[in-house]
Amino acid sequence: MIRKLLSAILLFATYSAVYADSRQYTDDERSVLAETALFLENWQRRLVSYAENSEQLNTAEIIQTTSIRISNELTLPSIAYAFHESNREILISDEYILAVNAYAPLIEAYFSEHLQDTTEYEETFPFYKLALLDVLFHEMGHHATDAMYSSNASRYRVAKAEKEAENWSYNQKLDFGIDKYELGRIISLFSVLAYHSSMPNTDSDNYRWQRAVLESSAHQACFMSSSHLSTKLCNPLSNDGVIGDNILTVLAAD
Ligand SMILES: [Zn+2]
Repeated sequence: MIRKLLSAILLFATYSAVYADSRQYTDDERSVLAETALFLENWQRRLVSYAENSEQLNTAEIIQTTSIRISNELTLPSIAYAFHESNREILISDEYILAVNAYAPLIEAYFSEHLQDTTEYEETFPFYKLALLDVLFHEMGHHATDAMYSSNASRYRVAKAEKEAENWSYNQKLDFGIDKYELGRIISLFSVLAYHSSMPNTDSDNYRWQRAVLESSAHQACFMSSSHLSTKLCNPLSNDGVIGDNILTVLAAD
């Protein structure tokens, strides 16, 4: 699979965030994916400029030469991957982008209406952008710090690489003043869970497995976040420790 992806990637120039064209999308989905590709491409440029201006030329070069591709080859619960074989690449799931586009605004509306003390929340970006930037910065962190691992890597190595990528992402977000309440990851996972809950085939082993992985990731993201605002988002959307089944019900109740 990786070799096939890499050969496809050679067709695309630097800075090209493109999306896979083989799946049938509606016109709306197509425009969401195209707009997201532009958004990611724009932020890739900003990350390059920032690295250049802080004289991290090696990092600037790495970010610039990493291809970002919106792909239909990742299935949920995978949201994104960073690959480095002969080329550097970030793959982001098309389903994830569609999920975040559909559900992040609902989660945001819920948050504003019920949880927000307006004096304590100051954020420049809407929820769906916070989620996308969290994904982009995290995956770029894997490349910028060379924190890569293979599928048979030890748990220690995986944890170490994830921490390095996340630390890089955290510091970049801090420098750009993005996502200071650490909501991006949680919004991503809640959006995917909501999208998953709305799927028609909920009776297969695969569906149940995906749901279990997503719920566990959402719990982990809620647990790891130190922001009190993330707790305010996490708690009402979970029910006796079960996050997933409750999300659509809570959002739909509005
Ligand atoms: Zn990672």
